[in-house]
Amino acid sequence: MSDGMFALEKRCAQLAVKRACQLTQSVSRGGSESITKSDSSPVTVGDFGAQALIINAILRAFPHDRVVGEENADKVRADEGLRNQVFSEIERTNQATEQVTSEIGKIHNETEMLDAIDQGSFEGGSQGRIWALDPIDGTKGFLRREQYAVCLALMVNSEVVLGVIGCPNLNGGSLFTAVKGQRATCQPLTGSIGVEERDISFRSISSPEQAVFCESVESGHSSHSANARIAEKLGITAPSVRMDSQAKYCSIAMGQADIYLRLPVNDLYQEKIWDHAAGNILVTEAGGQVSDINGKPLNFGLGRTLSENKGVIASEKSIHQHVLNAVKETLQEQKN
Ligand code: AMP
Ligand code: MG
Repeated sequence: MSDGMFALEKRCAQLAVKRACQLTQSVSRGGSESITKSDSSPVTVGDFGAQALIINAILRAFPHDRVVGEENADKVRADEGLRNQVFSEIERTNQATEQVTSEIGKIHNETEMLDAIDQGSFEGGSQGRIWALDPIDGTKGFLRREQYAVCLALMVNSEVVLGVIGCPNLNGGSLFTAVKGQRATCQPLTGSIGVEERDISFRSISSPEQAVFCESVESGHSSHSANARIAEKLGITAPSVRMDSQAKYCSIAMGQADIYLRLPVNDLYQEKIWDHAAGNILVTEAGGQVSDINGKPLNFGLGRTLSENKGVIASEKSIHQHVLNAVKETLQEQKN
């Protein structure tokens, strides 16, 4: 185990994310159904169970910290069937991961479960220690049994200092970790934490036209046509790699692709901090750079959303400016 800065937070986050991935995989094997939220996006038993497990572990170890989590317990509270389903998944996971219970604790009853989920409703801000949690990022990918990610990040005074991402369907199941100034790593999601952990980094490419870019599966989340135009301007001929969730940040940080393009589909949408905080530090620590479409760094200190940013561009550092120039040209064309 490493004993640098944030060693305890790192260990706790890795164990919690890994345990949450066990729950989501169990839900997926059981054939998950989705429930529709008020913003018409899908949510599942897996989202609620993973949020409960992770928040319970984090606040047990760091009781004064705050959490910005994507979900809340309203639907679970109101629906007894759903509540029982989520709790039985939690109990099943408790049994399967008994050896880590002494380290991260467990949820004993439905009240503790609901409380844990609702602890994720913090409004965020620029001061203090705040965790950003997406219990299942890419719920649509999860429902299709494709890529999804369990994403957790710690911010201190609005700077991301730790990110942990579990991707159960990426390369046979992978756990990614980055700590500020301590590089980025990947390890199998199975096995003991730290045993097969290896450093990851961007692949070096000599020019942008050799790049492979990734983008959302959902064209409603990122403009496929704008992304394609940017790729064309960069001379990229390889087809885009489409995948859901922050698995895109993981792919580029480990050199399986080179650029992540997320061009806004409308002027109104504000990106959520839990969709980008963990991916942001993973990419930065692996030798990459992240900005919005105007070249501004993402500001995680403004609440639950990235209200001062539009879209996301992530790539290896030395080509980031080239990519940004192509983005600017494309946006200009679209205005004309
Ligand atoms: P991805 O899997 O990369 O397509 O991203 C999934 C995330 O997109 C979800 O967690 C949502 O928070 C987010 N999302 C929902 N609507 C939009 C939108 N209109 N533009 C950008 N992102 C969105
Ligand atoms: Mg998400």
